[in-house]
Amino acid sequence: MAVSDHVDLPTFMEGVKKRNPNQPEFVQAVQEVAEDIYEFIQDKEEYHAQQILRRIAEPDRVVSFRVCWEDDAGNIRVQRGYRVQNNNAIGPYKGGIRFHPSVNESVLKFLAFEQTFKNALTGLPMGGGKGGSNFNPKGKSVREIMRFCQSFMTELYRHIGADVDVPAGDIGVGGREIGFMFGQYKRITNQFTGVLTGKGLEYGGSLIRPEATGYGAVYFLANMLATKGEDLVGKSAVISGSGNVATHAAEKIVQLGGKVLTLSDSGGFVHDPDGFDQEKIDWVKTHKTHRRGRIQDYVEAFPKATFHEGKTPWGVPCDVALPCATQNELLGEDARTLVANGCKALAEGANMPTDLEGVHVFKAAKLLYAPGKASNAGGVAVSGLEMSQNSERRAWKEEELQQMLKDIMFGIHQSCLTWGDQGGGYVDYVKGANIAGFKKVADAMLAFGVV
Ligand code: GLU
Repeated sequence: MAVSDHVDLPTFMEGVKKRNPNQPEFVQAVQEVAEDIYEFIQDKEEYHAQQILRRIAEPDRVVSFRVCWEDDAGNIRVQRGYRVQNNNAIGPYKGGIRFHPSVNESVLKFLAFEQTFKNALTGLPMGGGKGGSNFNPKGKSVREIMRFCQSFMTELYRHIGADVDVPAGDIGVGGREIGFMFGQYKRITNQFTGVLTGKGLEYGGSLIRPEATGYGAVYFLANMLATKGEDLVGKSAVISGSGNVATHAAEKIVQLGGKVLTLSDSGGFVHDPDGFDQEKIDWVKTHKTHRRGRIQDYVEAFPKATFHEGKTPWGVPCDVALPCATQNELLGEDARTLVANGCKALAEGANMPTDLEGVHVFKAAKLLYAPGKASNAGGVAVSGLEMSQNSERRAWKEEELQQMLKDIMFGIHQSCLTWGDQGGGYVDYVKGANIAGFKKVADAMLAFGVV
């Protein structure tokens, strides 16, 4: 094989920046992966010659479309919808749909890129994709949300399919929105297939899908602590977010004997020094999901807690931390504070919540630090199990699914150990996850030749 004129890491990143102008989140995600992959492929000429990393960092396709809908006042509104199909080397494209005003091409490309590695890590046959819109569900009526979801699916349906691309939920998209989109897909195509995951149990959804991301993140955290002979009993936890991922992570921490000190939303964080027990977590779930309320209202219901407006919770001393809100919510300075306050372990429930500087701080401090692509993979893993159940046309029992989720998280942790063990008792989980995810996708791509 001819020796390729492969470039070094800075030159590679220059190219990524040049080809993706004004897409800082996408460039950040590629850089975080490329830092590890460059080292790994140094002596593996075939990956260079076949330009594998370059190809994974170029989405198979980015579909962008107009979504028109009518609000309750009769105004015509126009939003932009997307589906980024990053890579389907090991299975149909798979990844959530996000409805949030911050959604743009850069954010969805970074998420679809991350999803490719995450899905490979689960061991299930799923490629990577992501979609969404800059539609803001906040303050919208249920009928407006329904009209938007229907209009969004009226274009999206032609790009997806049970063996093509299987979307799910993400920020701003939960069971209700999946229901509206599934209904519209079925109406247009006249087909009842497993085209979306996160469905209701009545129409092909899987047990434990809502809990899976948060529970899985805590299982991963427990696996990391176990390498040091420790567990979660008596450990204090700082959690950001108050949605599906954060509340289920909090629930599992409490079940495993830990104490949850904080939850947050975009308005600020709540600190409850007594800890959030199951009853308080249930209050948050109801208040945030069903009443669409703000976390700050918690202090009225539970007056011993305090609300910290416009702040993130990383300054509260803790043993373990779980960022479960959104990308770049934990910056270099926050990482230094956590380390200085004696935080021992951190598992990301969100996608890329830690910025590049923060990642470098955690690595330098040799913290037990799990990147989202490893620790938050439980959600998409149970989505993969939902796809299998749909194909089989049956529903598995809760105990079976709980065990499968635990086993999958254990398996991802093992993969990280295989590729990230640095000796001297330190495991670089970022490197481990990047290499394990990359290798699986890359080897499939090598088998296909130049396509
Ligand atoms: N949005 C979730 C994630 O970031 C789940 C995706 C899915 O279930 O397909 O992994």
